[in-house]
Amino acid sequence: MKYERIRNFINGNFKPVSSARTLIITSPTDGTPLAEMPCSSAADLDEAVKAAKAAFPAWSKTPIKERVQVFFRYKYLLEKNLQELAELVSEENGKTIGEAIAEVEKCIELTEFATSLPQLITGEVLEVSKGVECRTSHVPLGIVAAIVPFNFPAMVPNWTIPNAIALGNCMIIKPSEKVPLSLTIIARLLKEAGLPNGVFNIVNGDSEIVNAICDHPDIEAVSFVGSTKVAKIVYRRATQNLKRCLALGGAKNHLLVLPDARPDMTAANVAASMSGCAGQRCMAASAMIGVGAVDHIVEKICAEAKKIIPGQNLGAVISKESKERIERYITEAESAGAKILVDGRGITVTGKENGTYVGPTVIDYVTPDMAIAKEEVFGPVISILRTNTLDEALIIENASPYGNAASVFTENGGLARYVADNASAGMIGVNVGVPVPREPFSFGGWNESKFGVGDITGKSSIEFWTKLKKSTTKWNPEAGVNWMS
Ligand code: NAD
Repeated sequence: MKYERIRNFINGNFKPVSSARTLIITSPTDGTPLAEMPCSSAADLDEAVKAAKAAFPAWSKTPIKERVQVFFRYKYLLEKNLQELAELVSEENGKTIGEAIAEVEKCIELTEFATSLPQLITGEVLEVSKGVECRTSHVPLGIVAAIVPFNFPAMVPNWTIPNAIALGNCMIIKPSEKVPLSLTIIARLLKEAGLPNGVFNIVNGDSEIVNAICDHPDIEAVSFVGSTKVAKIVYRRATQNLKRCLALGGAKNHLLVLPDARPDMTAANVAASMSGCAGQRCMAASAMIGVGAVDHIVEKICAEAKKIIPGQNLGAVISKESKERIERYITEAESAGAKILVDGRGITVTGKENGTYVGPTVIDYVTPDMAIAKEEVFGPVISILRTNTLDEALIIENASPYGNAASVFTENGGLARYVADNASAGMIGVNVGVPVPREPFSFGGWNESKFGVGDITGKSSIEFWTKLKKSTTKWNPEAGVNWMS
């Protein structure tokens, strides 16, 4: 194995996992076995929760302006160790090094936001009647948990770590069992930044640990990011156990392309959105709906797709099973009558024969009833559907059970506004292929792309990671009149 056996991070130290059940972590880029990951048991989780509980009284009572000093240092350490972390992200996830660098840069931006929390969480105070004052303050919840997916081994954990911890909570994170290595660097940097022992803990494992987190009586809140199928399991189980839960699920994002869209810009954006991170982004464009005469744009999309070369500017998909699943969707669409304009099936990269690559794929004349039009493909594939009217396009977009993102490409402001107002999605793009809101705005979809109230990043996350205390104070406003000691 290239790296040593993975350990949990509990109470500020890397600790061996007790269980004998292990998984092998393999690099998707060339099949190199990277590390053995033992699956923790409920007892390992309990040890982490005990450490977090012990750390909570002091950490939660530390003033927030002091707590965020850790994150100023962590931000600096992310910058200093950017290359090392990005290389590991790329190695274990399969994305290109450029994409991994962008991912770590996003971690830095997320941390920068957390350092501004003291400016954002000031409470309210008002004299509500003579001598009576009401005031609010945000109070940390206690022990909170984060369960994360494989597609952003560093960024998705950093959606939660800086905010949840800066707001005074102690945290347990369960990495994706497909990419557990990057979080070991993150733990090291948090410790180096001066985070007290026990405030941040990692418990490696699979669904067994997810269930144990949802059931643990001392965990107050659970955040989840992953597929809709598992988001539903986690949301149901955590809330059944009376925990606060925010569970982000999968996506099927539509790009509505109108004939007046700028062809070069639109084609470049569509191609980048469907193929970035090998299409393994919950914000990836997966279906394009061409409204009216857009052949000239489709031609340019194909030209752009052909510039995307597996193993060069296109990374691998996470596993052999993923590659097979994606190729199966393409083949089924072809059999159902869709036209494959650019075909990414059957790709092998010379020198990386054991890598799991799918080439960029453009499929035209996909119809709404095809599985590829409805389901999340999570690969570098764009399905093109055709309609005559914008309303027909919106009917297709809004029939999806998901609601993460939707974009429109047009030069007509009124039509763009119409789509923005009528698309049932939490994040809207106008001439933007990947409409991720940047800090301080919050990230989060609608419908079956998110269960729970509020969003996971930005200002909205304050409500999730804290509870509001309302204090009413009454003093005699005349107490000082003629007062003598
Ligand atoms: P996944 O749902 O398979 O796994 C996510 C987490 O759930 C992992 O930590 C895994 O160990 C755990 N898990 C898996 N099966 C489980 C089960 N049966 N019971 C309990 N826990 C279980 O997701 P993934 O394949 O790692 O990630 C890809 C998915 O995540 C895609 O659907 C993608 O759209 C989604 N995603 C969504 C967002 C968003 O913001 N909405 C962001 C990133 C990824």
